[in-house]
Amino acid sequence: MALGKTFPTYDPRTGEEIAHVAEGDAEDIDRAVAAARKAFDEGPWPKMTAYERSRIMLRFADLLEKHTEEVATLETWDNGKPYEQAANIEIPKVVRMFRYYAGWADKIHGLTMPADGEYHVQTLHEPYGVTGLIIPWNFPLLLYSWKVGPALACGNTVVLKTSEQTPLSALYVSKLFHEAGLPPGVLNVISGFGPTAGAALCSHMNVDKLSFTGSSATGKVVLGMASSSNLKPVTLELGGKSPFIVCKDADVDKAVDLAHFALFFNQGQCCCAGSRTFVHESVYDEFVEKAKARALKRAVGDPFKKGTEQGPQIDNAQFQKILKYIRSGIEGGATLETGGEQLGSRGYYIKPTVFSNVKDDMLIATDEIFGPVQSILKFKDLDEVIQRANATSYGLAAGVFTQSLETANTLTRALRVGTVWINCYDIFDAAIPFGGFKMSGHGREKGIYGLSSYLQIKAVVSPLKNPAWL
Ligand code: NAD
Repeated sequence: MALGKTFPTYDPRTGEEIAHVAEGDAEDIDRAVAAARKAFDEGPWPKMTAYERSRIMLRFADLLEKHTEEVATLETWDNGKPYEQAANIEIPKVVRMFRYYAGWADKIHGLTMPADGEYHVQTLHEPYGVTGLIIPWNFPLLLYSWKVGPALACGNTVVLKTSEQTPLSALYVSKLFHEAGLPPGVLNVISGFGPTAGAALCSHMNVDKLSFTGSSATGKVVLGMASSSNLKPVTLELGGKSPFIVCKDADVDKAVDLAHFALFFNQGQCCCAGSRTFVHESVYDEFVEKAKARALKRAVGDPFKKGTEQGPQIDNAQFQKILKYIRSGIEGGATLETGGEQLGSRGYYIKPTVFSNVKDDMLIATDEIFGPVQSILKFKDLDEVIQRANATSYGLAAGVFTQSLETANTLTRALRVGTVWINCYDIFDAAIPFGGFKMSGHGREKGIYGLSSYLQIKAVVSPLKNPAWL
């Protein structure tokens, strides 16, 4: 890297350093963009047949699958997520995502249409060119796949900046891409910080398209830099404060289990975490009691240990932020049912925390906590819960738990969110589009909708008969 500097990455189990990583800065972004530009303008990638691009992506997916153990180990070590979750859920989903988009590579085509009977019109779906991709730390490799998969399938080249908290897995797998036959310059991975490397990528004049996943606050800055440089289009996947609505007809035991999963999965560090658990008053007391019992049973500890459900939070800053929110919940008058403090004295472990009697204006009900803190709110009827669920600047996702088709359909249509999960949660098949309403983002990732983020449309028009001036 240009500056010759490195930065440490830490093990969240202990706070100790794992490794020093070469730190990319504005100059490295410049070099990476130049390499990506060359690979796009002159290199083989967009000129190669789509079938050949697809085969390279499939070879990569096979290699990744073969190296699941190493990659999952890096992911757990750097991030703190349970190894079983990384190895059995996330890496297989990453493999699947690359296979899914490899399948699309040779199926991208435009349309033809008549124009007043005098012209023949065809649309070409073309790659943007150099794409700048920025990802967060909560699902390092999964979110890498949501962006790199479609960007490459469409024939773009890539400069990707990983999160400074979790740089390791992306470096490792990008080496596998090289082994799979990806030509030089097509995929450039930079480890570095947001205000330096990230900002340089967002404001670069030679980047044609940006895709960013992170907080809504950073999203605003990213959009500003994109528009004040070369007006590059931006896809934004941002934060959330998603409602999980338990209706009066719900089987309480099942609702408790699903609401628990919706919030506590990945240490509560999910953009779409069901972080406002709305429960109908008729089942509220029973639900709270059982939610507390479920949280007390949650297996928290070393993420490498078999059976661990919850590891440590990513770092000290997040750990302190979550504890601060917990204190605000207590001071604001919510009832702390269980948890509310560090587990042990080493690393960033937090006891699964459940609050009842949460009011809509408490910080624990308005802000994205990004931790293992469940806030349970009471509601009386559907109109009221719809209004309260929508009373947020976010609009990423929602969960609905009911046995009534009518209730499910009413809520589904009224909630202003990008995804509604009915009697399920966190279903992330490669084909399902994902993205936010309101301040949760612009555009969609995954599935066929995700492809369109990496393609621009060119209309080609020609007369059907020789025009008079020929
Ligand atoms: P963050 O916004 O702090 O950082 C995200 C990325 O942006 C990192 O790579 C960071 O280095 C970079 N960055 C920071 N400042 C920047 C700047 N000035 N210019 C350019 N890049 C900059 O978010 P985080 O803490 O890493 O991740 C958590 C957030 O991500 C949460 O809000 C979560 O909801 C959101 N998220 C959203 C989705 C989604 O799909 N909607 C998925 C996962 C996470």
